[in-house]
Parts: sequence; C-alpha cells; structure tokens
Amino acid sequence: MPSVKSITKTLLLTELLQGLALTFKTMWKPKFTVYYPEEKTPQSFRYRGLHALRRYANGEERCIACKLCEAVCPALAITIESDVSDDGTRRTTRYDIDLFKCIYCGFCEEACPVDAIVETRIHEYHMENRGENIMTKDKLLAVGDRYEGMIAADKAQDAAYR
Ligand code: SF4
Ligand code: SF4
Repeated sequence: MPSVKSITKTLLLTELLQGLALTFKTMWKPKFTVYYPEEKTPQSFRYRGLHALRRYANGEERCIACKLCEAVCPALAITIESDVSDDGTRRTTRYDIDLFKCIYCGFCEEACPVDAIVETRIHEYHMENRGENIMTKDKLLAVGDRYEGMIAADKAQDAAYR
C-alpha cells in the first residue's frame, strides 16, 4: 500500500516539477556538442588508425621482412611473403593487411623492431569497392610516404613514455 508521503508527492507533481526545474537550469548552461566533421575533439599521438609502412630518410624501406608483426597479429590480418632482393637484403614481396580483420590493437607496431609498420592517427577513410579493405604494400608505403612528418612527430612524442 502506498505511503501518505508517496501519495502526497504524486498529487503535488513534485517529481515532475523537479524534473522541469532541472531542465530549465540546464538550458542556460554551455553546450558541449561537437559538430563533427566541422569540429573535432583532440586526438592522442598514440591513436591507432590506418596503417602505414615507413621508409628511412634515404628512401630505403624500413621493413626487413622478419614477420614478427604477422606472427603477433591476433586477428591474422597480416599476410607477408618475402624474398632476397637484388642488393642481398631480405624484403617483402607481399605485405597485405586486411582492414576488415584488423582490430586495431597496435601489436604489429609494438612488435616491429625497426618501426616500419605503424598505425597512424588517420581515422577518416572509407572503401567503395570490394577488395579495397586489403591494404597492399604499395598502398601502405604510399600512406607512409605521405604522412611521414606526422608519424615521426607522433613517434617522437611517444618516445618520452617508453
Ligand atoms: S593492429 Fe592488431 S589486429 Fe591490426 S594488423 Fe596490427 S596486430 Fe593485427
Ligand atoms: S613490418 Fe616490422 S615486424 Fe613486420 S615484417 Fe617488417 S620489419 Fe618485421
């Protein structure tokens, strides 16, 4: 059986009035809505987005085809094939990342001994055709070439915490 207090509260619409009072108070407070994509929230330099393969300053590929990233990938998203190149070094002949399988854990980046594979802070990308989810070696190198400045700056910031 409802108590007298509860019945009184119901009859006087106390809770409704309390709710309206809160709404009225909140109406005048500053808004925190971010109008994406015109506005963006700050992003960590450790953000794990689209992958890239990096080169050294002289243009040489960093990747030495050790396959550690392939071995550590929990989603089995990386496929590597390798061979000995003309200069006698071991290089990948195929380096694919399936973005549909990838869970963006960052293990590949952590495992790489030469900072070749990295996850950039790029998160605004899309696919329009079947098969575009496979990031081939050429595509990964192209991302690396284009965003090397940003990648190097993010790596430098992260170095202080390693
Ligand atoms: S981020 Fe994780 S899941 Fe994605 S390719 Fe790297 S290791 Fe695999
Ligand atoms: S990206 Fe790094 S970990 Fe992966 S094969 Fe190349 S050198 Fe090894």
